[in-house]
Amino acid sequence: MSTKSFFLEQSLYDYLCKQSLREPDVLRRLREETAQSSMARMQIAPEQGQFMQWLIRLMGARRGIEVGVFTGYSSLCAALAMPEDGYLLACDVSEAWTDVARRYWVQAGVAEKIELRLAPATRTLDTELGTGLAGSYDYAFIDADKTNYIAYYERCLELLRPGGVILVDNVLWSGAVADAANQEEDTVALRAFNEYLHGDERIDLSMLPLADGLSLCRKR
Ligand code: CA
Repeated sequence: MSTKSFFLEQSLYDYLCKQSLREPDVLRRLREETAQSSMARMQIAPEQGQFMQWLIRLMGARRGIEVGVFTGYSSLCAALAMPEDGYLLACDVSEAWTDVARRYWVQAGVAEKIELRLAPATRTLDTELGTGLAGSYDYAFIDADKTNYIAYYERCLELLRPGGVILVDNVLWSGAVADAANQEEDTVALRAFNEYLHGDERIDLSMLPLADGLSLCRKR
């Protein structure tokens, strides 16, 4: 939902960005182009993108999955952080949004690392599982329709190797998850998803108050 860490005061958020962001020019240009769109809030925050790059490098991840590409900011972050032989399976259903993403993947010279599949992500992930790729991925990033989060999570968990990490976006939903009076469909879905993760003994869990809330799930 938010494009930045919503709970920080503006002045503190500005300080955080000023003293930590090292956003490459190509990512800044993509962010500025996306900001012109009415759906700009669907893009992840730059401090989150940089954190994901940090994590990908720490893990030495070479194979990733992204569920929900939008205009490609997070996939571009991931591809830039992965080694030359890195591979990112990018799942989305929107040709229009991913056309923007593809343009920037090419500009950044990482297009060959990313395979875009335009289809419902559950179908794409089932295909991966059906072709014997369970346990073959290092990380996954889930940032798509909230009502399907559990379905995406279950498939990604199976596709990950032990020690692999799933990152899940928007788990704090601008604070709405903690407001019991908010019964909006996505809020209810995210609340149920967070509870599901909390009780899942197959993972080590950390819910970070970064950007709009990011849950880290390490497969045991
Ligand atoms: Ca998001």
